[in-house]
Amino acid sequence: MSPPPVSAHVLACIGRTPLVALTRLGAGLPVPVLAKCEHTNPGGSVKDRIALAIVDDAERRGVLRPGATLIEATAGNTGVGLALVAAVRGYRLVCVMPEKMSVDKREALAALGAEVIITPNASPQQPENFRNVARRLAHERGWFLTAQFDNPANVRVHEQTTAQEILEQTGGRVGAFVAGAGTGGTISGVGRRLKAQVPGVRIVLADPVGSALADWVETGRLGPDGSYLVEGIGGSEVPANLHRDVLDAAERIDDAESFAIARRLIREEGLLVGGSAGTNVAAALRVAARGGLDGPVVTVLPDGWDRYRSTPWLRALAT
Ligand code: PMP
Repeated sequence: MSPPPVSAHVLACIGRTPLVALTRLGAGLPVPVLAKCEHTNPGGSVKDRIALAIVDDAERRGVLRPGATLIEATAGNTGVGLALVAAVRGYRLVCVMPEKMSVDKREALAALGAEVIITPNASPQQPENFRNVARRLAHERGWFLTAQFDNPANVRVHEQTTAQEILEQTGGRVGAFVAGAGTGGTISGVGRRLKAQVPGVRIVLADPVGSALADWVETGRLGPDGSYLVEGIGGSEVPANLHRDVLDAAERIDDAESFAIARRLIREEGLLVGGSAGTNVAAALRVAARGGLDGPVVTVLPDGWDRYRSTPWLRALAT
C-alpha cells in the first residue's frame, strides 16, 4: 500500500484511523471484535474529529472572527483537539476542566498553549460545575463556546466520517457497535448512520457502573448518581448529543474490569490506550459472547495511554 501524500497541515491527518481485530482478547468468540484506533489521531483521541468539525462549522456560519477566543468545558481530549485547531487556524483557547481529571491532561493542555481553569467536582445543578463555568465565561466575555455536549456538528462528523470509515473497513457488515458516551457524539452519530445502512445492527452503550445513563437507556429514567474513576464517559445527566432512539441496550462495566481490560489491551494487543477503551472493549466482548449477531462487533479506542501515566491503574503495569 502506498503512503498517504503530503498533508497541507496536521488537521488534514485527522480521521481515517485503523480498524484492528482483537485477536487475543476476542479469541474463541462467535464473531470478531474490531477496534477503531481513535488514539492514533494527531491529538491522541477521537476528539480531534469534533474539534475540527465544530470550528469548521462555526467558520462557515461566520461566527468566528480571526484571533477569536474559543472556550470549552472539557475532560481534556476535546481541549487537545481544539488546541491543534487553534494553533493551525490562529485562535486563542480556554479550557474549563473538573479537578477529577488527570494531571497529565492539564499539563498537556498547558503545554499546547491553552489557558486551563480547574473547577471543583460539582454536580450540574451547582454554579461551579465545569460546564456552567464555561457557559458563564463565554457569555460574559463574548468568547465562542464550542459546546461539544450540544453542538450538532459533533454528531454529524461521526455520521459522516467515523461511521463512513467503519462501513468501508467492514464492507458494510457490522453485527453491533459498542461505545461509551461522554457527549454522546460518537455513539449517536455512528449509531444513526449504521442503523440507516446495516439491517439488524445493534447499538450498545458501554456505561461505567456509577453512571446514570444505562438505566436511562433501559427505562427512560436516569439511574442513581454514583462515582467511578474511568474518565470521559458516563454521567448523571443526559447530554443533548446522546440520542436514545438509536440505542438498543446498555452494558454496565465497573472500574476494575475497565482498567483490567485496558491493561490487557496494552500488554496483549500492543494497543496503547486509555481507561475508557477498557470500558468499551469489556462491553464489546460481552456483546460478542452473547452471540446472535450477523457480523463483527465494532468498538472504539477513544484515547491513548499517555494521558494517564500518573494514574494508579496504569502505574500498576510498570511496577
Ligand atoms: N473516552 C474518552 C477518554 C473521552 O474523552 C470521551 C469524550 N468525552 C469519550 C470516551 C466519549 O466520546 P463522546 O463524547 O463522543 O461520547
